[in-house]
Amino acid sequence: MKIGIPRSLLYYYYYPLWKNFFEELGVDVVTSPPTTKKILDLGVRNMVSDICVPIKIFMGHFYYLMEKELDYIYVPRMVSIEKRKFFCPKFMGLPDLVRHTIENPKKVLRPSIVAKDDNIALLENFLPLAEPLGKTKGEIKKALKKAETAWLHFRQLSKEGYFHQDAMNIALGKVQKENLPIYQGGEITIGLIGYVYNIYDDYISMNIMEKLQQLNIKVITFDMLPENEIERPIKQMDKALFWTFSNKLLGAGKHLFRKNQVDGIIHVTAFGCGPDSMIGKMFELESQDTQIPFMTLRIDEHTGENHLQTRVEAFTDMIKRKKV
Ligand code: SF4
Repeated sequence: MKIGIPRSLLYYYYYPLWKNFFEELGVDVVTSPPTTKKILDLGVRNMVSDICVPIKIFMGHFYYLMEKELDYIYVPRMVSIEKRKFFCPKFMGLPDLVRHTIENPKKVLRPSIVAKDDNIALLENFLPLAEPLGKTKGEIKKALKKAETAWLHFRQLSKEGYFHQDAMNIALGKVQKENLPIYQGGEITIGLIGYVYNIYDDYISMNIMEKLQQLNIKVITFDMLPENEIERPIKQMDKALFWTFSNKLLGAGKHLFRKNQVDGIIHVTAFGCGPDSMIGKMFELESQDTQIPFMTLRIDEHTGENHLQTRVEAFTDMIKRKKV
């Protein structure tokens, strides 16, 4: 049996868990390739124009996989991983979006995911897959254990300071941890705040991680921070945001602004993202209060690489000059 996983959205957060789970059950996992213009165009053609670019990219990957010989494509309905907080509605509606745009919706596996924290490796989230995969409850439980271990390892590596791709490769057993030093960076430290699917998709972020590395800059992202440091500033607010991952970005940003751990903050946001417009405003206020430079990089399918390069260079140069 073969299952396709689109390389988009929470692929960048949960892939080690999903891959290990399916493979432990003897199912082959096929992912779409890294985003390309062709994949993006596929998504843009098949989506309404005013939806955010990460969803267009998701649809591009989904349609790419639809053309492959697969038994199923895995599109979980991400509902909640935090009490009384939810995923952005575009995530929650994703299985419906694909169900109404394809001819054979039976090909899509869309279990609902509900958990109390980021660790979604709960039996109730994966048991609905037993029947379509032809597996027993015991087999699902066993596969889940292995998947959970791999995912926790991946998250631990990120918190130790490994860059996303390195942490992913180590957790997937593609490379030994000892052979991959943690990137230390140099002159200045930048907090790069953005959803995993925006900053780690090299096509849409135009390799921003690599660009910052080439400029000899240390980067801290939200997924590198311990959960309690992200949650603390949120708990101090009168009211948190309604959306889980938006809260994570807000908490990470507030933490970095206030703890003086960074010389500047870049908020990478997708055009058309409602939650981010609110976070961006709050970061602007934090920047005024703390005097830590802040820049928003708004990306969409038309953003040019030269434009991004110029803005990143100008921002980081300004910080470097301020520091000497
Ligand atoms: S949080 Fe923003 S970028 Fe992410 S899916 Fe929702 S609207 Fe799109």
